Amino acid sequence: MLDTIIIGAGPAGMAAGIYAARAELSHLVVESGLMSGGQIVNTSEVDNYPGLMGIGGFDLAMKFREHCDRCGVQFRSAAVTEVKQEEGGFLVSLEGGETHLAKTVLFATGARHRKLEIPGEAEYTGSGVSYCATCDGAFFKGKEVAVIGGGDVAVEDALFLARGCKKVYLVHRREEFRAAKTLVSRLRACENVELVLNAVPVRIDGNGQVEALLVKGADGEQKLLVAGVFIAVGMIPDTGLLKNLVTLDAAGYVVAGEDCRTSLPGIFAAGDMRTKPLRQVITAAADGATAIREIEVFLHQL
Ligand code: NAP
Repeated sequence: MLDTIIIGAGPAGMAAGIYAARAELSHLVVESGLMSGGQIVNTSEVDNYPGLMGIGGFDLAMKFREHCDRCGVQFRSAAVTEVKQEEGGFLVSLEGGETHLAKTVLFATGARHRKLEIPGEAEYTGSGVSYCATCDGAFFKGKEVAVIGGGDVAVEDALFLARGCKKVYLVHRREEFRAAKTLVSRLRACENVELVLNAVPVRIDGNGQVEALLVKGADGEQKLLVAGVFIAVGMIPDTGLLKNLVTLDAAGYVVAGEDCRTSLPGIFAAGDMRTKPLRQVITAAADGATAIREIEVFLHQL
């Protein structure tokens, strides 16, 4: 029986792999994607990871993977189909029927950004369309941009972007905001923010790079001439395998604190799929390290 199985090979899973290998835990990192890295593989630049300013997301993922390989992290490429509690641990089933037993399982399966599914969105992702203002905002200094959404993330993104951008349009489909009132008050006080309410995005236009966002409101269509469109309409955590095992919050995130422990002893959660205030590469990697430390404590107590 393995000490731990880590599911997912994004920054949280790979950091956990490095810590597990260095702690000499018997382990397996199971990844279902074509390559390691998770969300950052599709991120043009990661500009806020200390010491590696401006590194491409793909390059950072490859650096993580190279580090894993040098430490002797054990990988297995397959989709996990089920995780079941067994006497003394957990049975992890992979597609094709292969199974592995482990004393603990660390979920690091991440979360996906909800998409708008409008024309231009996929085409211009990485060329003006972004799902992360903290990551990409600096590329739009002095320019006009739009943020879509009415939750905490959209309003925080708009406030963040308003510091460096010439103008920020906040496009929201309703009059009322889901975001905290204090955030909305701060947003309303920003001189370079224009609220475009009761409006839905229809299309993103451009010529190699984003040039405009078309929105539809009660008074018809309006063309916003922007260089960037920041989409913040929520996340979809990848927690389907955990539905009947541990406590999830209303949005589907695993309820787990900074120690990455879930409601079921032996099951741990690291990275974007757990409840946390900031979902970034650095916080995911930190979770991976913390989770392995907690797994070591758990194994000693067994
Ligand atoms: P969220 O709270 O679910 O808000 C998503 C927003 O996007 C909503 O305003 C929603 O509109 C809008 N939306 C959804 N689908 C849309 C579509 N197809 N077209 C147009 N608009 C659409 O998501 P979030 O802002 O990512 O936040 C996620 C969670 O993290 C929340 O629980 C939030 O409180 C938390 N969070 C907390 C903090 C903090 O405490 N500082 C910071 C960030 C995030 P409707 O309102 O009309 O549904």
